[in-house]
Amino acid sequence: MGLLTGKTALITGASKGIGRAIAIRFAQEGANIAFTYLSSVEKGQALEEELNSYGIQAKGFRSDASDFNAAEVLINGVVTEFGSLDILVNNAGITRDNLLMRMSEEAWDEVININLKSCFNTVKAATRTMMKAKAGSIINITSVVGIKGNAGQANYAASKAGIIGFTKSVALELGSRNIRSNAVAPGFIETEMTEVLDEKTVQGWRDAIPMKRGGQPEEVANACVFLGSDMSSYVSGQVLQVDGAMLT
Ligand code: NAP
Repeated sequence: MGLLTGKTALITGASKGIGRAIAIRFAQEGANIAFTYLSSVEKGQALEEELNSYGIQAKGFRSDASDFNAAEVLINGVVTEFGSLDILVNNAGITRDNLLMRMSEEAWDEVININLKSCFNTVKAATRTMMKAKAGSIINITSVVGIKGNAGQANYAASKAGIIGFTKSVALELGSRNIRSNAVAPGFIETEMTEVLDEKTVQGWRDAIPMKRGGQPEEVANACVFLGSDMSSYVSGQVLQVDGAMLT
């Protein structure tokens, strides 16, 4: 029996990178998996097939994380299809980096809406189901950048810091209903999001990491398995850094 057997998990933005790794690790631990994607349609379909090979129920939903009404439709779809929703992982996220002086209003709004408002959208829609079940684990993917800030990422850092405040507030509001809310703060993880950085920047990040390497998506996924499972039944309102001691 896996750590997540019998549970249904929804993971947003799972067509690649960290979200994809979370979906696969959760399936390996026996969870049924609902997941979302937006532009990577083929990758989303391929993931659904791969997840089904683990002998669990899996379904991908094309859904824009920044869309408030779409979140309601999504959660209703998941509950209809799977019968429950036990774990919600808000992972969908983007960067639109620029120095503040050059940052457009669109780049600010897009990052805040996709990274931060998305968490409000899904948590608000999922709360009724979790409250009825008197159980739930919410995991929001933030970043070490949300804790320390980063030049050239004012929009991204603000969205990720906002996620931490949101996560703690949800833990306080819903704790009495046995709904836990935690955040995972990855450091430098090797995915398509970081692939676009130039070699000098990447080397700078690596030099600043005491473990002297970038993290793998599976290493973030393992932290999510812990927070999604009953192994963390008394852990709520926390930010778990997965960063090779980068920010210590
Ligand atoms: P990634 O490889 O670029 O993947 C991002 C995922 O988000 C994709 O599956 C993408 O789906 C989805 N997505 C983007 N916009 C969306 C929208 N509007 N609606 C639904 N899905 C959307 O990025 P990653 O590195 O895996 O990052 C995953 C999360 O970890 C993000 O929240 C990121 O901020 C956070 N994080 C990453 C790092 C890192 O070093 N990589 C560090 C700290 C935190 P489509 O392609 O289908 O649109």
